[in-house]
Amino acid sequence: MQTALRLSKAALEQLHTHAEKALPLESVALLFGHIQKSEVIVARIEFLENVAASTTSFAVDPEREYHLLMDAEERGEEMVGIFHSHPAPPIPSPRDLRNMRLNPVVWAIASKSTGSWETRAFLLEDENLIHVQIDLT
Ligand SMILES: [Zn+2]
Repeated sequence: MQTALRLSKAALEQLHTHAEKALPLESVALLFGHIQKSEVIVARIEFLENVAASTTSFAVDPEREYHLLMDAEERGEEMVGIFHSHPAPPIPSPRDLRNMRLNPVVWAIASKSTGSWETRAFLLEDENLIHVQIDLT
């Protein structure tokens, strides 16, 4: 089980900038890297357009996602996480929980509901929502 998400402070700031630019819509990004023991290590981020163009949900162009996944495989990476932002607090919505079942990677959710951006990470394990610690490097 993965208990920590490791990424650089600069990467987290880039995610928050991406989320800020998308306002008032939700933003989305895919996190690529590898899993080492209990840590998910983010090596590369693909900042994507929210094709749902929604304030309460997000979607990725399936063709773009397919190409990114193929590209990652060639680089020896895997998709290790899905990032998106919320107008609401950074807690998975019922829709997120359904999608977490289909995409069992770490889900990082950003929110500005407290005034400044913060991100929390989660994993759904046997229907239990687990909080994943974010380790900034
Ligand atoms: Zn969500």
